[in-house]
Amino acid sequence: MATYIGPSCRLCRRSGDKLMLKGGRCYSPKCGVDKRPKPPGQASTQRRRISDRGTQLREKQKARYSYGIMETQFKRMFREAERQPGVSGDNLMVLLERRLDNVVYRLGFADSRSQARQLVQHGHIKVNEHATNIPSFLVREGDTITWVETSAKSVYYKDLAQTIASKVVPNWLSLDRQILIGKVVSVPTPEDAESKFDAKSIVEYYSR
Ligand code: SF4
Repeated sequence: MATYIGPSCRLCRRSGDKLMLKGGRCYSPKCGVDKRPKPPGQASTQRRRISDRGTQLREKQKARYSYGIMETQFKRMFREAERQPGVSGDNLMVLLERRLDNVVYRLGFADSRSQARQLVQHGHIKVNEHATNIPSFLVREGDTITWVETSAKSVYYKDLAQTIASKVVPNWLSLDRQILIGKVVSVPTPEDAESKFDAKSIVEYYSR
């Protein structure tokens, strides 16, 4: 699966919002949006009026960038959300939140979703005692997220064990901070999603 490998801060500046894609740097004065709030590559200082379609596109891109998903996969996810009963926008937010890379990030095992995706892809994470290297794997209620035995002996794991106490875990997840085992207590609700985007605009974008 292809991934975006360009500069993350450029995506934030393009979206006009801090999407928190780079972990600690996002909270520092080095943040690209704080340093250069203007969109990248725009020479004009005049403000352009954004059309409704433009706004919908921007919201969709914000969601994609936030979760690090390419267009084809994102669209497939949206179609899945549409097929499910209920409000498509809410379903989409829940599906995004249930992704394994997001869960690893939300448990505090990584500083950003891209780092979490790398942990999963490199085979450090187990779901229900099975090594799982698919970032888009959707967790279910009751699933346990643990570390592969060899990874639990790594320097990264030992450093994480020292700092994990300060990490905040959402209500739908639980974390044993002594042995770094996470559990999905319940399926997340749309309100649980750390969303920087308007899901309704995404529905409108794909409904044309
Ligand atoms: Fe976005 Fe973080 Fe870069 Fe700031 S530092 S522009 S929040 S990725």
